[in-house]
Amino acid sequence: MHHEACPSCKSHQIEDFFLIKNAPVYSIVTVKSKAEALAVPRKDIGLGICQQCGFIFNRLYDTDTDYFTLGYEDQQGFSETFMKYLTRISNELISKYDLKGKTILEIGCGKGDFINLLNKLAGGIGIGVDPAYEDGRQSNQHLTFYKEYYSEKHGALNPDFICCRHTFEHIFHTYDFLRLIRMSLGQKKPVVFFEIPQINRILDIQAFWDIYYEHCSYFSAGSLGRLFRNAGFDVLDIRLDYSDQYLLIEAVPSDTPAEKTFPIEETVADQKVRIENFKTKINQQLSEWEKRLKQMKESGEKVVVWGGGSKSVGFLTQFSDLSLIDYVVDINPNMEGNYIPGIGSRYVQPEFLKDYQPDTVIIMNGVYQDEITKTMSAMGVNPKVYSL
Ligand SMILES: [Zn+2]
Repeated sequence: MHHEACPSCKSHQIEDFFLIKNAPVYSIVTVKSKAEALAVPRKDIGLGICQQCGFIFNRLYDTDTDYFTLGYEDQQGFSETFMKYLTRISNELISKYDLKGKTILEIGCGKGDFINLLNKLAGGIGIGVDPAYEDGRQSNQHLTFYKEYYSEKHGALNPDFICCRHTFEHIFHTYDFLRLIRMSLGQKKPVVFFEIPQINRILDIQAFWDIYYEHCSYFSAGSLGRLFRNAGFDVLDIRLDYSDQYLLIEAVPSDTPAEKTFPIEETVADQKVRIENFKTKINQQLSEWEKRLKQMKESGEKVVVWGGGSKSVGFLTQFSDLSLIDYVVDINPNMEGNYIPGIGSRYVQPEFLKDYQPDTVIIMNGVYQDEITKTMSAMGVNPKVYSL
Protein backbone atom coordinates (compact mmCIF):
# COMPACT_ATOMS: atom_id res chain seq x y z
CA MET A 1 0.00 0.00 0.00
CA HIS A 2 1.37 3.42 -0.92
CA HIS A 3 -0.90 6.39 -0.29
CA GLU A 4 -0.65 9.14 -2.88
CA ALA A 5 -2.92 11.74 -1.27
CA CYS A 6 -2.63 13.57 2.06
CA PRO A 7 -5.44 12.29 4.34
CA SER A 8 -5.80 15.78 5.84
CA CYS A 9 -5.94 18.02 2.76
CA LYS A 10 -5.96 15.59 -0.22
CA SER A 11 -2.85 17.17 -1.82
CA HIS A 12 -0.62 14.81 -3.82
CA GLN A 13 2.54 16.77 -3.00
CA ILE A 14 4.06 14.46 -0.40
CA GLU A 15 7.75 14.14 0.38
CA ASP A 16 9.05 10.93 1.97
CA PHE A 17 11.60 11.49 4.73
CA PHE A 18 11.95 8.48 7.05
CA LEU A 19 11.68 4.73 6.57
CA ILE A 20 11.51 2.06 9.28
CA LYS A 21 11.77 -1.47 7.92
CA ASN A 22 9.82 -4.37 9.43
CA ALA A 23 7.99 -2.72 12.29
CA PRO A 24 5.60 -4.99 14.24
CA VAL A 25 2.08 -3.96 13.23
CA TYR A 26 0.78 -4.29 16.79
CA SER A 27 2.32 -2.83 19.91
CA ILE A 28 -0.20 -3.10 22.71
CA VAL A 29 -2.10 -6.27 21.88
CA THR A 30 -1.85 -8.95 24.54
CA VAL A 31 0.47 -11.72 23.37
CA LYS A 32 0.81 -14.74 25.63
CA SER A 33 3.93 -16.51 24.33
CA LYS A 34 7.28 -15.67 22.78
CA ALA A 35 6.44 -17.65 19.65
CA GLU A 36 3.19 -15.77 19.23
CA ALA A 37 5.03 -12.49 19.79
CA LEU A 38 7.59 -13.27 17.10
CA ALA A 39 4.81 -14.28 14.70
CA VAL A 40 3.20 -10.83 14.80
CA PRO A 41 3.28 -9.46 11.23
CA ARG A 42 5.86 -6.80 10.42
CA LYS A 43 5.43 -4.04 7.86
CA ASP A 44 7.39 -0.97 6.80
CA ILE A 45 6.65 2.52 8.04
CA GLY A 46 7.32 5.30 5.53
CA LEU A 47 6.81 8.77 6.94
CA GLY A 48 5.95 11.49 4.46
CA ILE A 49 5.20 15.18 4.92
CA CYS A 50 2.48 16.94 2.95
CA GLN A 51 3.96 20.00 1.25
CA GLN A 52 0.55 21.67 1.28
CA CYS A 53 -0.60 21.39 4.91
CA GLY A 54 2.49 20.05 6.74
CA PHE A 55 0.74 16.90 7.96
CA ILE A 56 3.00 13.88 8.57
CA PHE A 57 1.71 10.35 8.07
CA ASN A 58 2.73 6.78 7.30
CA ARG A 59 2.31 6.55 3.54
CA LEU A 60 2.74 2.77 3.67
CA TYR A 61 0.06 2.25 6.33
CA ASP A 62 -2.21 -0.72 5.65
CA THR A 63 -5.70 0.60 6.41
CA ASP A 64 -7.02 -2.98 6.62
CA THR A 65 -5.04 -3.69 9.78
CA ASP A 66 -7.47 -4.88 12.44
CA TYR A 67 -6.56 -4.05 16.02
CA PHE A 68 -9.81 -4.94 17.66
CA THR A 69 -10.19 -8.67 17.26
CA LEU A 70 -7.13 -9.12 19.51
CA GLY A 71 -7.34 -8.05 23.13
CA TYR A 72 -5.21 -5.12 24.14
CA GLU A 73 -3.95 -3.38 27.26
CA ASP A 74 -3.28 0.32 27.12
CA GLN A 75 -4.19 1.51 30.59
CA GLN A 76 -1.75 4.05 32.02
CA GLY A 77 -3.68 4.72 35.20
CA PHE A 78 -1.27 2.70 37.33
CA SER A 79 1.21 5.57 37.42
CA GLU A 80 0.86 8.33 39.99
CA THR A 81 2.51 10.84 37.63
CA PHE A 82 0.01 10.04 34.90
CA MET A 83 -3.03 10.14 37.19
CA LYS A 84 -1.97 13.56 38.48
CA TYR A 85 -1.83 14.81 34.91
CA LEU A 86 -5.24 13.35 33.96
CA THR A 87 -6.90 14.75 37.07
CA ARG A 88 -5.39 18.18 36.45
CA ILE A 89 -6.51 18.45 32.80
CA SER A 90 -9.96 17.09 33.72
CA ASN A 91 -10.44 19.76 36.37
CA GLU A 92 -9.16 22.42 33.97
CA LEU A 93 -11.66 21.39 31.28
CA ILE A 94 -14.55 21.12 33.76
CA SER A 95 -13.98 24.62 35.06
CA LYS A 96 -13.13 26.20 31.65
CA TYR A 97 -16.27 24.82 29.95
CA ASP A 98 -18.57 24.65 32.96
CA LEU A 99 -19.07 20.89 32.67
CA LYS A 100 -20.56 20.18 36.13
CA GLY A 101 -23.68 18.04 35.73
CA LYS A 102 -23.37 17.94 31.92
CA THR A 103 -23.38 15.12 29.38
CA ILE A 104 -19.85 14.24 28.25
CA LEU A 105 -19.14 11.86 25.39
CA GLU A 106 -15.76 10.26 24.79
CA ILE A 107 -14.84 8.95 21.34
CA GLY A 108 -12.34 6.10 21.56
CA CYS A 109 -12.84 5.59 25.30
CA GLY A 110 -10.83 2.33 25.46
CA LYS A 111 -11.53 0.66 28.79
CA GLY A 112 -13.43 3.75 29.98
CA ASP A 113 -10.99 5.03 32.62
CA PHE A 114 -10.98 8.66 31.44
CA ILE A 115 -14.75 9.06 30.99
CA ASN A 116 -15.16 7.50 34.43
CA LEU A 117 -12.73 10.00 35.95
CA LEU A 118 -14.44 12.95 34.22
CA ASN A 119 -17.83 11.73 35.39
CA LYS A 120 -16.63 11.34 38.96
CA LEU A 121 -15.27 14.90 38.91
CA ALA A 122 -18.09 16.58 36.97
CA GLY A 123 -21.17 14.51 37.78
CA GLY A 124 -23.85 14.38 35.09
CA ILE A 125 -23.79 11.68 32.43
CA GLY A 126 -20.83 10.01 30.75
CA ILE A 127 -20.98 8.23 27.40
CA GLY A 128 -18.14 6.15 25.98
CA VAL A 129 -17.91 5.00 22.37
CA ASP A 130 -15.28 2.42 21.40
CA PRO A 131 -15.44 -0.93 19.59
CA ALA A 132 -12.75 -2.17 22.00
CA TYR A 133 -14.64 -1.39 25.21
CA GLU A 134 -14.93 -4.47 27.41
CA ASP A 135 -18.26 -4.98 29.16
CA GLY A 136 -18.01 -4.85 32.91
CA ARG A 137 -14.76 -2.83 33.05
CA GLN A 138 -16.57 0.14 34.62
CA SER A 139 -19.24 -0.17 37.29
CA ASN A 140 -20.23 3.53 37.51
CA GLN A 141 -24.01 3.66 36.85
CA HIS A 142 -23.83 7.16 35.36
CA LEU A 143 -21.87 5.81 32.40
CA THR A 144 -23.21 4.28 29.19
CA PHE A 145 -20.97 2.53 26.68
CA TYR A 146 -21.47 1.91 22.97
CA LYS A 147 -19.25 -0.87 21.78
CA GLU A 148 -18.93 0.43 18.22
CA TYR A 149 -17.18 3.03 16.08
CA TYR A 150 -18.37 6.63 16.38
CA SER A 151 -20.87 7.44 13.65
CA GLU A 152 -23.31 10.18 12.69
CA LYS A 153 -26.09 8.73 14.83
CA HIS A 154 -24.15 9.39 18.04
CA GLY A 155 -24.69 13.15 17.58
CA ALA A 156 -28.31 12.50 18.61
CA LEU A 157 -27.04 11.69 22.13
CA ASN A 158 -26.72 15.48 22.52
CA PRO A 159 -23.39 15.70 24.33
CA ASP A 160 -22.46 19.03 25.90
CA PHE A 161 -18.79 18.18 25.49
CA ILE A 162 -16.91 15.67 23.34
CA CYS A 163 -13.46 14.38 24.16
CA CYS A 164 -11.14 12.14 22.20
CA ARG A 165 -7.81 11.24 23.80
CA HIS A 166 -5.03 9.35 22.03
CA THR A 167 -7.27 8.02 19.30
CA PHE A 168 -6.78 10.39 16.35
CA GLU A 169 -3.17 9.27 15.82
CA HIS A 170 -4.56 5.77 15.05
CA ILE A 171 -6.92 7.07 12.38
CA PHE A 172 -5.64 7.26 8.83
CA HIS A 173 -8.48 9.20 7.19
CA THR A 174 -8.05 12.27 9.37
CA TYR A 175 -10.18 14.76 7.44
CA ASP A 176 -13.01 12.28 6.91
CA PHE A 177 -13.05 11.44 10.62
CA LEU A 178 -13.29 15.09 11.70
CA ARG A 179 -15.98 15.74 9.09
CA LEU A 180 -17.93 12.77 10.44
CA ILE A 181 -17.89 14.33 13.91
CA ARG A 182 -18.78 17.72 12.47
CA MET A 183 -21.72 16.30 10.44
CA SER A 184 -22.97 14.31 13.43
CA LEU A 185 -23.37 17.55 15.38
CA GLY A 186 -25.45 19.47 12.82
CA GLN A 187 -26.32 22.83 14.37
CA LYS A 188 -25.23 21.76 17.87
CA LYS A 189 -22.14 23.45 19.27
CA PRO A 190 -20.51 21.29 21.95
CA VAL A 191 -16.84 21.93 22.62
CA VAL A 192 -14.69 19.19 21.11
CA PHE A 193 -11.42 18.32 22.89
CA PHE A 194 -8.68 16.18 21.33
CA GLU A 195 -5.40 15.07 22.89
CA ILE A 196 -2.72 13.36 20.80
CA PRO A 197 1.07 12.97 20.78
CA GLN A 198 2.80 15.85 19.04
CA ILE A 199 5.31 15.19 16.28
CA ASN A 200 7.54 18.27 16.65
CA ARG A 201 9.11 17.04 19.86
CA ILE A 202 9.71 13.66 18.17
CA LEU A 203 11.42 15.41 15.25
CA ASP A 204 13.42 17.86 17.37
CA ILE A 205 14.97 15.23 19.65
CA GLN A 206 14.80 12.39 17.06
CA ALA A 207 12.56 10.36 19.38
CA PHE A 208 12.42 7.34 17.06
CA TRP A 209 10.83 5.25 19.87
CA ASP A 210 7.68 7.37 19.45
CA ILE A 211 7.23 6.21 15.85
CA TYR A 212 5.46 2.87 15.52
CA TYR A 213 2.98 1.16 13.26
CA GLU A 214 -0.15 1.67 15.35
CA HIS A 215 0.28 5.41 14.91
CA CYS A 216 -0.35 6.29 11.28
CA SER A 217 -0.98 10.03 11.83
CA TYR A 218 1.52 12.45 13.37
CA PHE A 219 0.24 15.94 14.22
CA SER A 220 1.87 19.25 14.94
CA ALA A 221 0.00 22.32 16.24
CA GLY A 222 0.12 23.79 12.73
CA SER A 223 -1.19 20.78 10.81
CA LEU A 224 -3.84 20.07 13.46
CA GLY A 225 -5.13 23.65 13.56
CA ARG A 226 -5.35 23.80 9.75
CA LEU A 227 -7.21 20.50 9.67
CA PHE A 228 -9.78 21.49 12.30
CA ARG A 229 -10.55 24.76 10.53
CA ASN A 230 -10.88 23.01 7.16
CA ALA A 231 -13.25 20.47 8.70
CA GLY A 232 -15.58 23.21 9.98
CA PHE A 233 -14.43 24.07 13.50
CA ASP A 234 -13.43 27.27 15.25
CA VAL A 235 -10.26 26.55 17.17
CA LEU A 236 -10.56 27.87 20.74
CA ASP A 237 -7.14 26.80 21.97
CA ILE A 238 -4.13 24.68 21.00
CA ARG A 239 -1.39 23.96 23.50
CA LEU A 240 1.23 21.45 24.60
CA ASP A 241 1.30 19.57 27.90
CA TYR A 242 2.95 16.58 29.58
CA SER A 243 6.54 17.78 28.99
CA ASP A 244 5.53 18.82 25.46
CA GLN A 245 4.71 15.20 24.53
CA TYR A 246 0.99 15.86 24.12
CA LEU A 247 -0.86 18.26 21.85
CA LEU A 248 -4.25 19.46 23.11
CA ILE A 249 -6.88 21.22 21.03
CA GLU A 250 -10.29 22.62 21.90
CA ALA A 251 -12.65 23.58 19.10
CA VAL A 252 -16.31 24.25 18.44
CA PRO A 253 -18.37 23.54 15.28
CA SER A 254 -18.74 26.57 13.05
CA ASP A 255 -20.26 27.32 9.64
CA THR A 256 -17.66 30.03 9.06
CA PRO A 257 -14.45 29.01 10.87
CA ALA A 258 -12.26 31.96 11.88
CA GLU A 259 -8.89 32.16 10.10
CA LYS A 260 -7.09 33.26 13.26
CA THR A 261 -4.09 31.10 14.11
CA PHE A 262 -2.31 30.63 17.43
CA PRO A 263 1.38 31.49 17.92
CA ILE A 264 2.15 27.80 18.55
CA GLU A 265 1.00 26.85 15.03
CA GLU A 266 4.11 26.53 12.91
CA THR A 267 3.91 27.18 9.17
CA VAL A 268 4.50 24.53 6.51
CA ALA A 269 7.80 26.26 5.69
CA ASP A 270 8.88 25.95 9.36
CA GLN A 271 8.01 22.29 9.23
CA LYS A 272 10.12 21.65 6.13
CA VAL A 273 13.16 23.12 7.93
CA ARG A 274 12.42 20.87 10.93
CA ILE A 275 12.28 17.81 8.66
CA GLU A 276 15.67 18.65 7.10
CA ASN A 277 17.17 18.87 10.60
CA PHE A 278 15.62 15.51 11.55
CA LYS A 279 17.01 13.86 8.42
CA THR A 280 20.51 15.08 9.32
CA LYS A 281 20.43 13.92 12.93
CA ILE A 282 18.34 10.75 13.09
CA ASN A 283 20.97 8.36 11.72
CA GLN A 284 23.51 9.64 14.20
CA GLN A 285 21.02 9.11 17.05
CA LEU A 286 20.30 5.55 15.91
CA SER A 287 23.95 4.62 15.51
CA GLU A 288 24.86 6.04 18.93
CA TRP A 289 22.22 3.85 20.55
CA GLU A 290 23.31 0.83 18.57
CA LYS A 291 26.92 1.34 19.64
CA ARG A 292 25.90 1.78 23.29
CA LEU A 293 23.74 -1.36 23.29
CA LYS A 294 26.44 -3.42 21.54
CA GLN A 295 28.93 -2.39 24.22
CA MET A 296 26.48 -3.46 26.94
CA LYS A 297 26.09 -6.81 25.23
CA GLU A 298 29.86 -7.32 24.86
CA SER A 299 30.48 -6.60 28.52
CA GLY A 300 27.73 -9.08 29.48
CA GLU A 301 25.46 -6.52 31.13
CA LYS A 302 21.90 -7.37 32.13
CA VAL A 303 19.78 -4.68 30.50
CA VAL A 304 16.06 -4.13 30.95
CA VAL A 305 13.65 -1.64 29.47
CA TRP A 306 11.22 0.06 31.87
CA GLY A 307 7.91 1.14 30.37
CA GLY A 308 5.96 -1.21 28.16
CA GLY A 309 3.50 -0.34 25.50
CA SER A 310 4.26 1.24 22.22
CA LYS A 311 7.41 3.19 23.07
CA SER A 312 9.25 0.00 23.96
CA VAL A 313 8.15 -1.54 20.66
CA GLY A 314 9.27 1.60 18.78
CA PHE A 315 12.64 1.49 20.55
CA LEU A 316 13.30 -2.25 20.36
CA THR A 317 12.22 -2.52 16.70
CA GLN A 318 15.43 -0.71 15.79
CA PHE A 319 17.67 -3.12 17.71
CA SER A 320 15.79 -6.42 17.69
CA ASP A 321 18.70 -8.18 15.93
CA LEU A 322 20.87 -7.59 18.99
CA SER A 323 18.73 -9.90 21.20
CA LEU A 324 20.01 -8.03 24.23
CA ILE A 325 16.87 -7.27 26.20
CA ASP A 326 14.90 -10.21 27.62
CA TYR A 327 12.64 -8.29 29.99
CA VAL A 328 10.51 -5.18 29.91
CA VAL A 329 9.14 -3.81 33.19
CA ASP A 330 5.61 -2.48 33.30
CA ILE A 331 3.64 -1.47 36.38
CA ASN A 332 0.32 -2.49 34.82
CA PRO A 333 -0.39 -5.86 36.49
CA ASN A 334 -2.49 -6.91 33.47
CA MET A 335 0.70 -7.00 31.37
CA GLU A 336 2.44 -9.58 33.59
CA GLY A 337 3.40 -12.67 31.61
CA ASN A 338 2.69 -11.08 28.24
CA TYR A 339 5.32 -10.69 25.53
CA ILE A 340 6.28 -7.65 23.44
CA PRO A 341 4.66 -8.02 20.00
CA GLY A 342 7.18 -8.60 17.25
CA ILE A 343 10.13 -8.48 19.66
CA GLY A 344 9.55 -11.37 22.10
CA SER A 345 10.85 -9.76 25.33
CA ARG A 346 8.74 -10.69 28.36
CA TYR A 347 6.76 -8.27 30.51
CA VAL A 348 7.59 -8.38 34.20
CA GLN A 349 6.46 -6.48 37.30
CA PRO A 350 8.91 -4.13 39.05
CA GLU A 351 9.46 -6.68 41.90
CA PHE A 352 11.12 -8.97 39.35
CA LEU A 353 14.18 -6.68 39.41
CA LYS A 354 14.89 -7.47 43.10
CA ASP A 355 16.23 -10.88 42.12
CA TYR A 356 17.28 -10.07 38.58
CA GLN A 357 19.41 -7.05 39.62
CA PRO A 358 19.91 -5.47 36.19
CA ASP A 359 23.11 -3.53 35.44
CA THR A 360 21.27 -1.05 33.26
CA VAL A 361 17.67 0.18 33.03
CA ILE A 362 16.50 2.14 30.00
CA ILE A 363 13.44 4.23 30.90
CA MET A 364 11.15 4.72 27.93
CA ASN A 365 9.62 7.97 29.14
CA GLY A 366 11.64 10.48 31.15
CA VAL A 367 8.44 11.87 32.64
CA TYR A 368 8.43 8.83 34.95
CA GLN A 369 12.12 8.88 35.92
CA ASP A 370 11.62 10.11 39.50
CA GLU A 371 8.78 7.70 40.14
CA ILE A 372 10.82 4.78 38.74
CA THR A 373 14.11 5.51 40.50
CA LYS A 374 12.25 5.86 43.80
CA THR A 375 10.56 2.48 43.26
CA MET A 376 13.90 0.86 42.41
CA SER A 377 15.89 2.22 45.34
CA ALA A 378 13.11 1.15 47.71
CA MET A 379 13.71 -2.39 46.41
CA GLY A 380 17.50 -2.16 46.72
CA VAL A 381 17.96 -2.01 42.95
CA ASN A 382 20.48 0.63 41.86
CA PRO A 383 21.40 0.14 38.20
CA LYS A 384 22.83 2.60 35.69
CA VAL A 385 19.85 4.49 34.26
CA TYR A 386 19.24 5.89 30.79
CA SER A 387 16.12 7.95 30.27
CA LEU A 388 14.55 8.67 26.90
ZN1 LIG B 1 -1.98 17.86 3.42
